[in-house]
Amino acid sequence: MKATQNHLIHDVIISGAGPVGLFLACELALAKCSVLIIEKAESPHSPLKQFPFGIRGLSAPSIEALYRRGLLQELELHKRLKSPHSTIAQAQRKQAGHFAGIPLYEDNIDTTQWAYRLPGSTETSLMSEMKEIETVLTRRAEALGVVITRGQAITNVHQTADEVTVQLGDRSFKGKWLVGCDGSRSVVRKTGGFEFAGTEPEFTGYSTQVTIADPEKLKPGRNLTPTGMYLQSQPGYIMIQDFDGGAFHSSEEPITREHVQEVLRRISGTDVTISALHLATTWTDRARQATTYRNRRILLAGDAAHIHSPLGGQGLNLGLGDAMNLGWKLAATIHATAPEGLLDTYQSERHPIGAEVLNWSRAQVAIMKPGPDARALNAIVRDLINTRDGATYIAGRVWGIHTHYNLDGHHPLIGHSVPNFEFENGTPLGELMHDGKGILLDLTMNASIKALADEYGNQLKYISGSIKERLGITAALIRPDGIIAWATDKEPNCNDIRKAAGRWFKYILK
Ligand SMILES: Cc1cc2nc3c(=O)[nH]c(=O)nc-3n(C[C@H](O)[C@H](O)[C@H](O)COP(=O)(O)OP(=O)(O)OC[C@H]3O[C@@H](n4cnc5c(N)ncnc54)[C@H](O)[C@@H]3O)c2cc1C
Repeated sequence: MKATQNHLIHDVIISGAGPVGLFLACELALAKCSVLIIEKAESPHSPLKQFPFGIRGLSAPSIEALYRRGLLQELELHKRLKSPHSTIAQAQRKQAGHFAGIPLYEDNIDTTQWAYRLPGSTETSLMSEMKEIETVLTRRAEALGVVITRGQAITNVHQTADEVTVQLGDRSFKGKWLVGCDGSRSVVRKTGGFEFAGTEPEFTGYSTQVTIADPEKLKPGRNLTPTGMYLQSQPGYIMIQDFDGGAFHSSEEPITREHVQEVLRRISGTDVTISALHLATTWTDRARQATTYRNRRILLAGDAAHIHSPLGGQGLNLGLGDAMNLGWKLAATIHATAPEGLLDTYQSERHPIGAEVLNWSRAQVAIMKPGPDARALNAIVRDLINTRDGATYIAGRVWGIHTHYNLDGHHPLIGHSVPNFEFENGTPLGELMHDGKGILLDLTMNASIKALADEYGNQLKYISGSIKERLGITAALIRPDGIIAWATDKEPNCNDIRKAAGRWFKYILK
């Protein structure tokens, strides 16, 4: 961090201490960047971040990212929460997610199709709580030296060729870079010159905690009705989808007991009585994405970069993936160890994944609408999901197992997350990734490959050894985000490795 006349210049300012801003800050600080997070909310504790509203399903890439940085064990896995979508009626079979509310059962999924994923694989999905995720990430960020200011919002941003200034009322801060992680209504996106393109909502969604005078009038579980959908995940917790084109959500009218009762009666077709409304929030299926994630020194990540309906629970996972992808690339750019074009790969890798998730949520909404066409399609999709191939395909998408980047190279592992290989001494590879460095994995224990790793200084560490189930590979180059940049099943060739490494790491002549 450098001092100027009036300001300390941070390497990176992050707007928003949500899960994405916090995780990105951890990645940057791990790579020795100075980071300031500016968070609008005075207190990190909101009831909407706690059970049951704050429950979030983490998919395989998020679980791996947290695991690789030694953070997964800090989440209380032993208290793993039951999916809110698994209802009393469905409790006999283990539900593994859903598509448009159509349940997906674990016993119908053929995991053997993901051969490269399997050795020592971590969990494919688990439920956690926003509050817990943010608590764990805040603790880690602060331990790594990240400064977090709370209680004042960024109101404007301005950039020159060398720095970015953020305005907080009459205060301002300067950074070399700014990353907008300030959620769906991002001020950084709005004032930073980004276009946010997409589609308008079909419905207003309600998440409510209520007391119902006559609960027997509502069915348990998820119910598609002629006018919408209501879900009673457990007594007193009701989620509703009202296909009003998102009108109520955008009206900013207060969410009253009377209003929720009126909507619930209309959607459920009953005269149910809500005697008390304890907590409520609304959301929509508006699906928009920034057309570019970078405008010179300003970048976007998480909900600031893309919004969509929470159906199928992908937004947090998408945002954590952005942070894992961006952190090491921005740090390398700051430390001048980034090869030409490295930072541009944040856009080229993450934008298509975001677009896929938006389409995934649109497809779900399309078959949840009231009306005969959507219901007919829904019935067909339900039949397909009940087949083994259908369930396996949907699980691969919902669990994030299909997520990969299209990188150059022929080996089938390239562009995919590295399997959690286990060394003969019992150490899993993921445990060696806490420091966020790239890895040159050499299972042939070749001295020239070790020397090659040294050419990249502390960007790359050489790891050799014997692996229990190595899927045929002899060597692999693994990026700091755990993505395989290069791999071979043959005798590794130093020229091939140098060519692959030069795309991601800077050659440092010793
Ligand atoms: C009902 C519901 C269920 C969901 N379930 C899932 C799920 O199961 N799985 C999943 O992956 N996702 C789920 N999501 C989506 C997920 O919650 C979001 O995608 C995720 O919270 C995005 O994280 P973020 O850090 O990008 O943004 P946020 O969590 O919105 O954090 C943004 C932060 O920026 C701060 N901020 C805003 N403006 C400013 C400003 N001007 N200056 C400074 N700070 C500012 C805010 O106070 C906030 O702390 C769900 C969403 C909803 C609504």
